[in-house]
Amino acid sequence: MSQQSEWHTLQTALRTASDIAFLEERPQGEQAEVLVDALRRAVSAALALRDGPGDTGCSVHPYGPVDPLHGDKEDPLPPGWGRCLLCNDRRRRAGARRRSA
Ligand SMILES: [Zn+2]
Repeated sequence: MSQQSEWHTLQTALRTASDIAFLEERPQGEQAEVLVDALRRAVSAALALRDGPGDTGCSVHPYGPVDPLHGDKEDPLPPGWGRCLLCNDRRRRAGARRRSA
């Protein structure tokens, strides 16, 4: 999930949790269950926000593979390429098509 959707999940979950927590009556049974579930979702979304995008730094594939050529001094990646292997492969294929055309 993107940071934006984690943030949205966090807000929705906290809103649900506080709706239940501030009811007139003390939440019990199924309501307490929903409260626990909402708080769990809030915690995992907050953890995702804290940990930031994955190793790739890519907003589309934050937890995808890192290009092994990234940072390679002998065979450097073209300028502007990131660490995401999936995006770089797409760029490589696009470049190959352009060369063969
Ligand atoms: Zn990517």
